[in-house]
Amino acid sequence: MIAENLKAVRDRIAAACERAGRAPESVRLIAVSKTKPAEAVAEAYAAGQRLFGENHAQELTAKKPVLPQDIEWHFIGNLQRNKVKYVVGSAALIHSVNSEALAKEIDRVAGNRGLIQEVLAEINVGGEESKQGIDADEARGLVEAIAALPHLRLRGLMTVAPPAEDPETVRPVFKRLREMLAEFRPLTREPEAFDQLSMGMSGDFAAAIEEGATYVRIGTSIFGPREYPAKAAEAPKIKS
Ligand SMILES: *Cc1c(COP(=O)(O)O)cnc(C)c1O
Repeated sequence: MIAENLKAVRDRIAAACERAGRAPESVRLIAVSKTKPAEAVAEAYAAGQRLFGENHAQELTAKKPVLPQDIEWHFIGNLQRNKVKYVVGSAALIHSVNSEALAKEIDRVAGNRGLIQEVLAEINVGGEESKQGIDADEARGLVEAIAALPHLRLRGLMTVAPPAEDPETVRPVFKRLREMLAEFRPLTREPEAFDQLSMGMSGDFAAAIEEGATYVRIGTSIFGPREYPAKAAEAPKIKS
């Protein structure tokens, strides 16, 4: 089931790339495994998937040690400052930096551990209907603040579009995020590394790819509906 779903999602990503005249390797698929047991992650891994996304520090901490070490974990959820210590160094990329205070705490923890944490700034482009991310009019300030922190490497921008029946209605959100990437590039410390756009979920990823997404974060279309409460991470049987 998961293997078939993954294949269908990969085919749709390839089709969207084709329509947009983009190389398929320019879009990376993050399989969002939140609330799913480690067993489900192992199944996707066996089908070749290597990037996974979690939105709770506890789930990341529980699953990571019992799964193959070549998995690249992405943190995509609202991160409380007291949980930063569980995520820094554990996630390859933190997509959800939505305040200067959070950025500073990640910088502090990364500095203590002698590492550089890659991050994205999460922007609420969709306005009122979106719940996550810093308001668009404060985004420039956040980018400047992150650029000044020595243990953060700012790789780009992330957004969660408001839920929509028709993905065409949220296409302008994706377009706007791409424009912001270009606008903010001169403010960053490493402009050439500020090139990632994390946008697009199960309901709207094709439109996001057509508008320039480099990461899509897809849960439901791969793993089915979320399972609450989240499954405990037990060591899965790994098929290689
Ligand atoms: C849950 C989640 C996703 C995946 O959503 P689906 O609609 O299940 O594909 C993507 N991004 C974020 C930030 C999420 O929290």
